[in-house]
Amino acid sequence: MLEIDGSHDEGGGQILRTCLGLSAFTGKAFNIINIRSKRKNPGLKAQHLEAVNSVAKLCNAEVVGNKLHSQELTFKPGQIKSGRLNINIPTAGSCGLVLQALMIPAFLTTVKIKIEGGATYGKWAPPIDNQANILFPLLRKMGYDIELLNVKDGFYPKGGALVEVQIKKSELKPIELLEKGKLKVVKGISVASSNLEKANVAVRQAKAARKELSSIFDCPIKLEAFYRDSVCPGTGITLWVETEKSVIGADSLGEQGKKSEQVGKEAAKTLIKEYSKGVVDSYTADQLLPYFAIAGSGKLKTSKITGHIRTNAFIIEKFLKVKFNIDEEEAIVECKSY
Ligand code: ATP
Repeated sequence: MLEIDGSHDEGGGQILRTCLGLSAFTGKAFNIINIRSKRKNPGLKAQHLEAVNSVAKLCNAEVVGNKLHSQELTFKPGQIKSGRLNINIPTAGSCGLVLQALMIPAFLTTVKIKIEGGATYGKWAPPIDNQANILFPLLRKMGYDIELLNVKDGFYPKGGALVEVQIKKSELKPIELLEKGKLKVVKGISVASSNLEKANVAVRQAKAARKELSSIFDCPIKLEAFYRDSVCPGTGITLWVETEKSVIGADSLGEQGKKSEQVGKEAAKTLIKEYSKGVVDSYTADQLLPYFAIAGSGKLKTSKITGHIRTNAFIIEKFLKVKFNIDEEEAIVECKSY
């Protein structure tokens, strides 16, 4: 049984999700204490509990401590199930974060994951449009067979999303993401709930983003604006640059009182910054690390070394025979097996 201290470094929910995913992948049981102890509201929030229960369902795990606010949990994984996995998120918890945990072991089999409820765009979480267009293509380069089949957006506070993902049994191979190669295209998805169509919100977000992007990127810029039915109002935008050898992304979330133009501009400015410094954006970087370890090695250059990168590397080393080397100055992360 691996003993994990959830207060390490970043001390947030990601430690738990990585443990869940790698526990299901390796078959190693773990006990975690001090869950999210560095956060204002420590312990399991609904969103983290959903991740625990979802991964438990995928791998027939025995779980102790899977209750709201719990700061300790024991997880004993069983056999991974193939076929269909239906998940229900009754809150506005992030679909992307539940998926983050599930995706780590899911490619050991062929499974269609259907998440009903939750948010596709939420604070401090990857929007599903971000994962589908940035993380998934990078994972596909490693051999991971994953496809987003269907999306209905959900926003804070009601959630109500629908996300369907098809994962097929795959074998992962190492990758090095150290050079961008030639710039190909900038793409983006600007979304707003249908009731915001009158105010032209999704189109205005995209227009503001385009204005920023076109002064920097000398390539086609293809931004789409969608109005999607949802149970409560909300908006967001995801942008990404496709280069010969990588994909770099950024996103931004609409909020009451925040102008649509601000939402678009914010995402574009983040994308420009990420592109100028990295080959992989810093959010995608931490999410790729478990797969580097599973594949046996990997190397990437990002824009900056975040707490999430450091923490994830530390946790992954507990489950797999790998060592991460983090060059803080060059923002290069290297994973090697031993
Ligand atoms: P807590 O509530 O404990 O802070 P959490 O469960 O929300 O935890 P974190 O530990 O903060 O999660 O991890 C958040 C994850 O979401 C990280 O993998 C991070 O890279 C990713 N992430 C956060 N914000 C964004 C964003 N705007 N775009 C893409 N990915 C994001």
